[in-house]
Amino acid sequence: MTMPSAYVGRFAPSPSGPLHFGSLVCALASYLHARQHNGRWLVRIEDIDTPRVDSKMSPVILNSLLAHGMQWDGEVIYQSECHQRYNKNLDYLAQTQQIYGCRCSRREINQRAAYYDRLCRDANLSFDRHALRWKNDAGIDTFEDLHMGTCRVEERLAKEDPVLKRADGIFAYHLAVVSDDIAQNVTHIVRGADLIDTTPLHMSLFKALGGNPPAYFHIPVACDVPSQKLSKQHHAPAIDDSKALSNLKSALVFFGASAAEIKHLQSVDSLLQWAINHWQVSRLSTQTEILVEAVDGVYALKQ
Ligand code: GLU
Repeated sequence: MTMPSAYVGRFAPSPSGPLHFGSLVCALASYLHARQHNGRWLVRIEDIDTPRVDSKMSPVILNSLLAHGMQWDGEVIYQSECHQRYNKNLDYLAQTQQIYGCRCSRREINQRAAYYDRLCRDANLSFDRHALRWKNDAGIDTFEDLHMGTCRVEERLAKEDPVLKRADGIFAYHLAVVSDDIAQNVTHIVRGADLIDTTPLHMSLFKALGGNPPAYFHIPVACDVPSQKLSKQHHAPAIDDSKALSNLKSALVFFGASAAEIKHLQSVDSLLQWAINHWQVSRLSTQTEILVEAVDGVYALKQ
């Protein structure tokens, strides 16, 4: 019998729209990497940003994952149900003098500099009517990505004091994602390269909250035009669950497989099993984006 490993991976979609080809690719990469390492694969619905969330989308996303053969382990976690955890971590940072109130609007910050200049750090503003920022003194700016190698982000990003709770009371993505990854003992994060810039900040926050930063593995993002990732905002069509086999084949070609070597795979299950056995990081491009186009409702690499 094979023993489960300590590997814990996750897919963490924001339910602002249905799964599209770009998010399918992220789900599949994190699934294959976890299963190849005999690890657990969790699904967490990141529905923290309530104005952007469409609650009808969570079951749609989960159904698409199942239609594509990706069964998660354990219960699905919803960030909207984890406020207690975020409050506890925020309280801890506040008690250790790592939090301050900030009254600067995005516009005011942009007028002053290209990054937040820590203006309110010593203003002693109350916590109840202001955004809450974390004093990011760790300033990690470099990390070793399992796929992309050494990644270095601009100093201004690495040293920025992020908002952890907005003035309207909504917890920020950075706090929620790090708190959950710690609570769920996540060891490996496989996600889109558009999130590389936030990784050093997340690692700093992991340490501040007493967690061990996981291993990061960033994959190229699927774009329909250069620098524009497929997204709901840019009207990326929902993945068609009735074409699961074709969608998965397209995703494998995106990962570097040749159409000829996967031609014989005729079911979702046989394809996933083949992909788990053949998943090879070295065949995946180290570019941060790959151009794709839809042909008859199924995505292909743009020639
Ligand atoms: N919820 C984020 C998104 O949909 C992903 C966060 C993550 O993987 O760390 O873009």
